Amino acid sequence: MKKVFLIFSVTLLLGLSACTLRHIDSILSQDEKHNQSANSTVHSNIKKPNVIIIFMDDMGYGDLSSYGHPTITTPNIDKLAQEGQKWTNFYTASSVCSPSRGALLTGRYPIRIGLGPLKKRVFFPNSTGGLPTSEITIAEMLKEEGYKTGIVGKWHLGHLPEYLPTQQGFDSYYGIPYSNDMDATKGWNLANLLGESDINLWNVPLMENERIIERPADQTSITKRYTEKALEFIEKHQHDPFFLYFPHTMVHTPLFASQDYLGTSKRGYFGDVMNEVDWSVGQVISTLERLQLDQNTLVIFTSDNGPWLMMRDHGGSSGLLREGKGTTWEGGMRVPGIFYMPGTVQSATVTDIGSTLDLLPTIAHMTGAKVPEDRIIDGYDLSPVLTEKAKGGRDHMIFYRNQDIYAVRKGDYKAHFITETCYTLNNNRQELENPILFNVNHDPSERYNHAEAHPAKLDEIIQLAIDHRSETPNSYSELEKVVNED
Ligand code: MG
Repeated sequence: MKKVFLIFSVTLLLGLSACTLRHIDSILSQDEKHNQSANSTVHSNIKKPNVIIIFMDDMGYGDLSSYGHPTITTPNIDKLAQEGQKWTNFYTASSVCSPSRGALLTGRYPIRIGLGPLKKRVFFPNSTGGLPTSEITIAEMLKEEGYKTGIVGKWHLGHLPEYLPTQQGFDSYYGIPYSNDMDATKGWNLANLLGESDINLWNVPLMENERIIERPADQTSITKRYTEKALEFIEKHQHDPFFLYFPHTMVHTPLFASQDYLGTSKRGYFGDVMNEVDWSVGQVISTLERLQLDQNTLVIFTSDNGPWLMMRDHGGSSGLLREGKGTTWEGGMRVPGIFYMPGTVQSATVTDIGSTLDLLPTIAHMTGAKVPEDRIIDGYDLSPVLTEKAKGGRDHMIFYRNQDIYAVRKGDYKAHFITETCYTLNNNRQELENPILFNVNHDPSERYNHAEAHPAKLDEIIQLAIDHRSETPNSYSELEKVVNED
């Protein structure tokens, strides 16, 4: 019997590989389509909860003391993990910056929102595209409910005027609009990336709303200044419901920390930078406490993708997970996920599957906002887990790289259809004739292939991929749009 299944799986997979899981006719059963809006409740008589998302850049699963790092100390972040919920199977929707950010803000896989890469994986200074304004961001969703909305930090979803945060539901913006290693003045190379910190090597702009206010941005004080702006926003809107999206520029390489933090960590420069970020988180929480907003503010802390391993000790760590940024191995996609709201979020370590895709429907449920109904939303409402430690809605995760499904997880098992490393001379892309299967709860390091032992599991995952693909066609990519230099 097993053999029959295996043959079926392999035959099916060969078919899938041939068309890379594209154009498969299958009809999704209606009951698979979740509709979180039916559960939405409008809290009309109490002040709606505030929402703060603190989003790290390239911080890996293993870069917090609460997630097991032996020498990084992050007491303020760890307090949120301990008193709130620490999720240990929490995924980003892409292993690189721009698609990951678009997915977080819209609750949709990047391929649905023009951010499924073809060749270019993120936006660059010569990009002319951006997150399409037809997409509905968390900020736009909450504005409908009367929220004040602000972003402080890295945007990376298009830096031309029509794509800036102020066109995507945010009342205000302060930050570096793309990655801090762009606009290299003396070459993009490891010597400059890992050498002496010099702000003049990276001519990146610092923007306030639609205006460039500094160039090159003084990155040595960037975490400090972002924090000041974030606190200013909280103070200013303490009597309104507010949404603050706070995507840090750190700990993306090149690393920068202010003078006060240099030499403060046993982990070296990366740890110094983490210390400053941890200070920043502490400032946000103590400001909420001082203003007596802490019990009415949902704080979410997570990261856009795994660690940039080619940056050596200036890059982060994925801990016990395999590989890092750019890949669909666990180290590229699984990140810390922390939820904190004293009195509402029940303290727990949660091993359920969750994703940054789930933030939009979860926030919608907790604020009484409406999940968009005119499009497919890939996120699930996690609020039953947060508030009652009940079961979450998510039982699977699709791992895309570019526009291909590389891997799929369902329950304990994750199957890889295509494998590839990243940031090496030869990334060794392989479409697998025989997909490999890992029990990522038993084996989070993805070392022991169980495909032969569990053909039914593999078959189930292949079917899930087929069903998903039936509602997810390939798409054009905004990332390909660049300045015509002819
Ligand atoms: Mg990143």
